[in-house]
Amino acid sequence: MNDGADEPIDKRVARYMEYIAATARACGRNPDEITLVAISKTHPPEVIAQAIAAGITHLGENRVQEARTKIAQLAGMRRGITWHLVGQLQRNKAKVAAGLFDMVQSLDSKSLAEALHRHVASLLHEESHLLPSEFPPRPAGYRLPVLLQVNLTGEVRKAGFWLPGGLENREALSSFLETVEEILALPSLQVRGVMTIGPLVGQREAIRTTFRHLRHLRDYLAQLFPSAPWDILSMGMTDDADLAIEEGTTMLRIGRGIFGGRVDAHGI
Ligand SMILES: *Cc1c(COP(=O)(O)O)cnc(C)c1O
Repeated sequence: MNDGADEPIDKRVARYMEYIAATARACGRNPDEITLVAISKTHPPEVIAQAIAAGITHLGENRVQEARTKIAQLAGMRRGITWHLVGQLQRNKAKVAAGLFDMVQSLDSKSLAEALHRHVASLLHEESHLLPSEFPPRPAGYRLPVLLQVNLTGEVRKAGFWLPGGLENREALSSFLETVEEILALPSLQVRGVMTIGPLVGQREAIRTTFRHLRHLRDYLAQLFPSAPWDILSMGMTDDADLAIEEGTTMLRIGRGIFGGRVDAHGI
């Protein structure tokens, strides 16, 4: 899609929603199956507030501290907003992430899962007036929704459970499945599905293949572990959203397509 750098945010949001709907219909899908997560990293709270006013209800950030500051500044608009963490999470920030975010899409190791699980459980028992004010209240029995991020392309720069080639990679698959089973046993987490980043440089067919691998992996996990819903397939960013829609995405993560170029493009 064209960048439309000087277009106001409300127009961009409306245009992007239309684009998703048209692309979905063109391949016989119901647009309501697709959740749009606006990735607001590097953009200031004023701009995010405009996106919310234009109808955005899911927002994603890739750094815990940056998100924490902005979520605090947007506290008046917290209700009805789902904040996603989409960037790599260091274990020493797992406590803040567990309290702050409504979904962690970048779960990429068993040790991180265990840390998040412990913090979610212990935060539930802390007195609410002792918690940082930007942590939303959680009901008893709350489970933090998470997605398992998988690296299906074998690019070493990229985070995620190592599974180049997806289901075809028998050796990597068996250790991944063991880990999935262990993560599913952590009662304070709710595994909702899988997430991937397409090839960082790649032809359209390679991107499509990666998305197809993620869908097949999700279908396989759903069969093997029916206790989790596996309803979220998070794939597709600004440059490959159309392919992701065609390959069955249920969650698009769109930064530049909504906010324009990043103020200071930092890594993914
Ligand atoms: C930045 C980012 C996006 C959005 O990227 P765009 O190309 O700007 O749409 C999506 N997912 C992750 C994990 C990101 O870090």
